[in-house]
Amino acid sequence: MLIAVRSNLKKEIKNKMISLSSYVLEKMLTEEDRENLRVQIVFDSKLDADGYCGMTYDEDEYMKKQTDMTVTLNRNYITTDHIYRILSHEMVHVSQYASGRLRERPTCTIWEGKKISKKLSYRNRPEEVEAWYLEGRLLGAWKRTKDGSVLKNFQAKK
Ligand SMILES: [Zn+2]
Repeated sequence: MLIAVRSNLKKEIKNKMISLSSYVLEKMLTEEDRENLRVQIVFDSKLDADGYCGMTYDEDEYMKKQTDMTVTLNRNYITTDHIYRILSHEMVHVSQYASGRLRERPTCTIWEGKKISKKLSYRNRPEEVEAWYLEGRLLGAWKRTKDGSVLKNFQAKK
C-alpha cells in the first residue's frame, strides 16, 4: 500500500494524513486488497464539494477492484480539523472501490452487486450512508492512537 500527499504542506501534517488514511484502509480492507493499492491525496481550492474520490487513471474506471485512486480534498479546509473528517470519509470510498463493493459501470454504479437506483438522493446512496456513518467513528478511533492523539490541540497550518 502506498499513500502519498501531493502538496507543499508541512511534513508533520502530511504524516498525519498518511497515518489516518492507513488506519482507515487497514480497518476496512483485507491485506490482499491493500497490497497493490496506491492512493494519492491532492488539494483543490476550487472544488465544489468537501472532497472527492476518483480513479487516478480514467481507463481504470470499470475495473472490478480499483488499485490507483486520487483523493481530492477541498483546500479551503486545510487550516481546520474538518480536513481530517473529509479525509476519513474519502478513505472509506477508497476502500469501497478497492474491495469492489462499489463499482462504476458504463451506465450505472453497482453497490455490493446491485445497481444503485438513480432515483436515490445523494445522501441516501448506500456508499454515502456508509461513509457518513463511519467517517467520525474511524476518525475518533484514530485519534485514540499514538499518531492521532496530538490532533486534539493540533491546528493544521499551511
Ligand atoms: Zn462521499
